[in-house]
Amino acid sequence: METVQLDFLGDLRRTHSCGQLRAADEGKRALLMGWVHRRRDLGGVLFVHLRDRDGVTQLVIRAEAGEEVHRKAEMLGSEYVIAVEGTVIKRSTETINAALDTGEVELAVENLWILNESRTPPFPMEGTVDVKEDSRLKYRYVDLRRPHMQRNIILRSRVSFAVREFLHSQGFLEIETPFMTRSTPEGARDYLVPSRVQPGSFYALPQSPQIFKQLLMVSGYEKYFQIVRCFRDEDLRADRQPEFTQIDLEMSFPQQERVYEVVEPMLQRVFKSAGIDVETPFPRLTFAEAMRSYGSDKPDLRLPPFHVLDGQSWQLGLTFPPVAIHIPKTGALSGSQRKELKDAGLERGLRVYDDLKKLDPQLVEQARSATGAGDDDLLIIAGWAGPPKGQRPEETFYQACGQLRLFAGQKYNDRHQLLDPTVFKLLWVVDFPMFEWDEEEKRWNAAHHPFTSVHDEDLEKLTTDPAYCRAKSYDIVLNGTELGSGSIRIHRRDVQAKVFAALGFTDDEAKRRFGFLLEALEYGAPPHGGIALGLDRLVMLLAGETSIREVIPFPKTARGTDLMCDAPSSVPERQLKELGLRLISGQKSDG
Ligand code: ASP
Repeated sequence: METVQLDFLGDLRRTHSCGQLRAADEGKRALLMGWVHRRRDLGGVLFVHLRDRDGVTQLVIRAEAGEEVHRKAEMLGSEYVIAVEGTVIKRSTETINAALDTGEVELAVENLWILNESRTPPFPMEGTVDVKEDSRLKYRYVDLRRPHMQRNIILRSRVSFAVREFLHSQGFLEIETPFMTRSTPEGARDYLVPSRVQPGSFYALPQSPQIFKQLLMVSGYEKYFQIVRCFRDEDLRADRQPEFTQIDLEMSFPQQERVYEVVEPMLQRVFKSAGIDVETPFPRLTFAEAMRSYGSDKPDLRLPPFHVLDGQSWQLGLTFPPVAIHIPKTGALSGSQRKELKDAGLERGLRVYDDLKKLDPQLVEQARSATGAGDDDLLIIAGWAGPPKGQRPEETFYQACGQLRLFAGQKYNDRHQLLDPTVFKLLWVVDFPMFEWDEEEKRWNAAHHPFTSVHDEDLEKLTTDPAYCRAKSYDIVLNGTELGSGSIRIHRRDVQAKVFAALGFTDDEAKRRFGFLLEALEYGAPPHGGIALGLDRLVMLLAGETSIREVIPFPKTARGTDLMCDAPSSVPERQLKELGLRLISGQKSDG
């Protein structure tokens, strides 16, 4: 086979992108550069689809282009990088390609430069082809070239830009905070970085910029934001990444509503940048309401709420009043579906009454009128049969009902697409409990983080009734997924000390871990609060993807491995020594 002679870029300059030319450009000269997406040889006439990030243009290379151009065109393989110059011609009506933005024209090539060759790509470049994810991650630079990935990464950039533009317009300052720092409490393990100059000492990578953004408020910057990488060493569940990106913001002197007033129009802009309209203000539910109507602190509003049938517990001999769950337009369930539903309830501790004919008609009537369920809909009545469970037992029951509601919604409504991914239902869930009970350690943990303010009226309950202390905290939820959470912070040293005490921190422990923050609160800390939203998840939902790996350029696998650069990896003995580290036996350094 003839070896390919590569051309120099020299002073060649593009006149258009591959997605730009239209019928109105007929007759213009154009110079395009890009990758050979596809090549067809129709007996002497060659057709090439040339691709760049902007689109695809068809090139046509006829005999008139001359022998040299023809010879080069015949050598082109998939993903070769070329430059071409020629004249824009209109296609005849029968050959118009409606699938391409440039489909009304083609470029009649007169000059062709081969700028680089390519090995045969490890998988086809067409977006619809299903390729094993390991291969995609190993050859991520090729995968990222595929049109559907380019669309996602471009969307991500647009979303970041919309956020920056909006927050700047509202007087927010973009301020960086350190990556090499000490532990921030967000409930995960830290990634540690050993110090060479201080052997035995470690930096922690931040789980969030929480403490720094609070300090920036103490320093009087008033409105801060950052699109920032955070690091959490968690047991990697399905769709987690050890490093992920947050839209992080903080402001001084806000009530909770002030934070919503910033976030709502910001998200409206972000959605707009993806071509989606959402209405503001978003609905608000307190945590208690969300639990009582959806059994979840991240309710999916695409399905209707359930209804507690007050006054009916005695009827069925239940611990709490039963709940009526309504799933529209399922049609009648088959016998096996009804069994499946009962079993699904049982697994969650619920007794499911699916045969309404066997129940007291008055109870059924109450359920029908509360839910508005019609004849074609599924109406389930569910109760908690066992003894009360957990610190807030009614919540345990509602959670089980919420899970059953989702189970039934996903299983029996799919034909009617209630859970349509192109419908976007946003809401705020507010006033979370301050504390969550840690059954293993037998103590209260901060439900959000330990810097979250308690409701003014609940301050006294911190020591007497921690289970029912409400926090000034809020989550933004989209279609059953938590997009972000935030809170009004504690700005008074005395209140912070009380919260630490409720969490069981001794004074010494609190000083050791967060001494600098506690001290800062003594130097004129203003009331402040903020929020952080997960950028990866947001872009994933906007792109209609189901995994955040589809919107992160270089993600890691579920085991935290980067298959392309083979990280994490062992390091030479010398490097360990410099850091004052020695591996315990069974683990190997890299020579
Ligand atoms: N630092 C919190 C988090 O990362 C968010 C916040 O309270 O602003 O979840």
